[in-house]
Amino acid sequence: MSTSEILRKSRNDGESLDLGEIEALLSLDDSSLPELWGVADEVRSREVGDDIWLRGLVEMSNYCASNCNYCGLRRDNSKLTRYRLDPEEILAAVDAIAGSGIGTVVLQSGEDPYWNTIRMRGIIEEIKARHDIAVTLSLGFRDRRDLEVLRAAGADRYLLRHEIANAETYTHHHPDSSLRDRVAMLRILGELGFEVGTGNLVGLPGGSVRDLARDVDLARSLGVDMYGVGPFIPHPDTPLRGARGGNALMTYKMIAVLRIVLRDVHLPVTTALMTLDARARERAWSRGANVFMPNATPLAYRSLYELYRNRRSLGDALEEIKECIECEVESMGRRLGRGHGGTMKGRMLP
Ligand code: SF4
Repeated sequence: MSTSEILRKSRNDGESLDLGEIEALLSLDDSSLPELWGVADEVRSREVGDDIWLRGLVEMSNYCASNCNYCGLRRDNSKLTRYRLDPEEILAAVDAIAGSGIGTVVLQSGEDPYWNTIRMRGIIEEIKARHDIAVTLSLGFRDRRDLEVLRAAGADRYLLRHEIANAETYTHHHPDSSLRDRVAMLRILGELGFEVGTGNLVGLPGGSVRDLARDVDLARSLGVDMYGVGPFIPHPDTPLRGARGGNALMTYKMIAVLRIVLRDVHLPVTTALMTLDARARERAWSRGANVFMPNATPLAYRSLYELYRNRRSLGDALEEIKECIECEVESMGRRLGRGHGGTMKGRMLP
């Protein structure tokens, strides 16, 4: 099939693109990219509308029991100053998010055993008692029993990136887990009624364009509701310190292709992409993305959530960040979404 035939199929029937066609889209040369961006933007507008959704991010703890090769939070990084928010700090951050009119809080952490199911249940129940707000968890691997408790406590969504849909490369970079277990957990999350998010890193050493196509294909087979994609940025205190890293252009291609294939999912602009490209929000929002996650972690800890170095920050106060984003969104002829901003699939949230 020629490039123009694949782009035509992408416009109306993107969910049926096969692996080779997805790889062909990811391999398009510069001359075809304006058309790719245009198709992705058209599909975004048709499938999920013009709203851009904010999710307030609270990074609860940078302790991690895992040792992923690429991550600054890995347990062997003894140079990192570790922190753990206390419940009052978490709830104050959530109060600020709800007070600013943002309809979702994302509670994110390394794989920190301190934040066990009992403690997390208490936090979630308190948030739900205080606010009409959706709760997204991003706490790493948990077993089915724990997930049942978290769901019953009121958690609405769960983010667990699969990182790379190639079992061998996955194992190389993740000594503590397997791709099979991660995918199994994503399936369990769907069975329990969570809205499910996965995602991958662009440019992980050992990864190929074919692997990126497999990432998209895996998400399609799982029927996920959200997908986060960002470039791998090498951290100096990890085994991958000398690696080349991912690039912004391939990340934009992934955003566009994910929109074309997955249709009605939520796609955030990641901070990693913003770190490589100062115009990332505007570019990603016009190439398929529709979400942004402003950081509401207390300032004293923000620089310590060091997945990679030199993370781009938008400023200090949530209200200021929100105002700045609102201006950007309106200048693009879009608007900020109001309410929980649940899945367009309508299977989870009221
Ligand atoms: S990627 Fe996640 S699980 Fe792996 S070391 Fe970093 S915080 Fe821990």
